[in-house]
Amino acid sequence: MKIGVLAIQGSVKEHKAALAACGAEVLEVRVPDDLTRVAALVIPGGESTTIRKLMKLTGLDKALADRIRGGMPVYGTCAGAILLEDFMDIEVERNAYGRQMDSFEAEIKIFKGKSFNAIFIRAPKILKTSKGVEILAKYGKEVIMCRQGNILVSSFHPELTSDLRVHKYFLKMIDGQVPSEKC
Ligand code: GLN
Repeated sequence: MKIGVLAIQGSVKEHKAALAACGAEVLEVRVPDDLTRVAALVIPGGESTTIRKLMKLTGLDKALADRIRGGMPVYGTCAGAILLEDFMDIEVERNAYGRQMDSFEAEIKIFKGKSFNAIFIRAPKILKTSKGVEILAKYGKEVIMCRQGNILVSSFHPELTSDLRVHKYFLKMIDGQVPSEKC
């Protein structure tokens, strides 16, 4: 079973390294044909407008939409979360932390209260989540990681730390070991 990393732009090699460190077999996904070879996909942080544009050029946007609607597990970090907003009952605002807080690190609470050092880079805010969305991490009162069925998003970048807990969670999600509490 191969896990894809969308390799258009952004923190591609960091996600590949994190998944490999968890023991996963990783494949870079650039065109629709690549997507047929993977069981799940990670969408890295980067610039969502650029990623969106380039996905459209190759038709990867439509192929990915079909796979997501078909239940393929997908995890989006930061820009990736912005791209996945369309598939979830959440509302996301780009670049929503003020200028001073453009990029920052913070100790956050993850998986029901455990500490995690989270890195935010011009991060979006997850403003609203509907009832069907499971909240997995918060920064203060703000939701920064959540899941709806097969879709996982975080506004921070676990791939930029050596903490593998989020990637391990995603791999468990792929294996069906952590069913969403909201399903
Ligand atoms: N600000 C970027 C965007 O809007 C996201 C930043 C990131 O992924 N680190 O796409």
